[in-house]
Amino acid sequence: MVDVTLIGTGGMLPLPDRWLTSMWLEYNGKACLVDCGEGTQIAINKHGIKLSHLDTLLITHVHADHISGLAGLLLSLGNCGKTDVLKIYGHTGIKDIIRHLFCICPVLPFPLEINELPVDRISEFSWNEMTISSMPMKHGVDCLGYSFVLNRKPVFNPQKAKSLGIDVKYWKELHSGKSVTIDGREYTQEMVTDEQRKPIKVTYMTDSRYFDEMIDFAGNSDLLISEGMYGDDEYKEKMAEKGHMVFSQSAEIAEKSGSGILWLTHYSPALVNPDEYADSVKKIFVNTVISKDGEKISLK
Ligand SMILES: [Zn+2]
Ligand SMILES: [Zn+2]
Repeated sequence: MVDVTLIGTGGMLPLPDRWLTSMWLEYNGKACLVDCGEGTQIAINKHGIKLSHLDTLLITHVHADHISGLAGLLLSLGNCGKTDVLKIYGHTGIKDIIRHLFCICPVLPFPLEINELPVDRISEFSWNEMTISSMPMKHGVDCLGYSFVLNRKPVFNPQKAKSLGIDVKYWKELHSGKSVTIDGREYTQEMVTDEQRKPIKVTYMTDSRYFDEMIDFAGNSDLLISEGMYGDDEYKEKMAEKGHMVFSQSAEIAEKSGSGILWLTHYSPALVNPDEYADSVKKIFVNTVISKDGEKISLK
């Protein structure tokens, strides 16, 4: 089960009732946080999430609303007893930027491993049985979107094993993916499992103006988290100039990419009531959620 929580939904600056946009994704007892703006650790705490599960941190870009909470988060992680490595991923050049932040948290009880990802192409790395892909966004500064894909193991089907006459004592081995040989005949895992299940996919894209490749990158996401600074299309051009989108553009990406659910986020502080655009945006993509801080889902 992949548990996703949207820590906050704001862009630019935190408001009394709206923390900055970031995502907590947890699987198998390990968690990955995407972005860490001012106050993110407070919002994590408020949503009842265990900070100690944090294993990896992804940074989209180094605008303050996405990274200025990092030093405080690292200090709090130290206070909750973390001693194993924290991996941080970000775009090329992020090592230097994080090193500069260290002057206010120079001593931590756990090591950091900082990894730089390319800004000219899609790249992939493994985390916690998942594949994470990064794709350069178009935001005027280096910025990455991320997708998480969990390829699920096939389900063992006892009926198939029985019908092949395989004794129960061999099931555990087959279940673990090994082949067994009985009376000179080889039995493989594929012979006793059901068809491959669809992978679980979560895509996170903020901050960026619209571009066509976003559709492929988000392709078949169970959950797409994408930005909308404003709900009104009249801001579309102005936002594109600033490297942002409006609600309808994210809804079009969700529709064209075959995504299951869209969570809108990264609202402008000037957008007081994003809910008033719910009807119009659902006409483009019916499963759009005008997210609130603490939005949660468990994907199975
Ligand atoms: Zn932002
Ligand atoms: Zn930005």
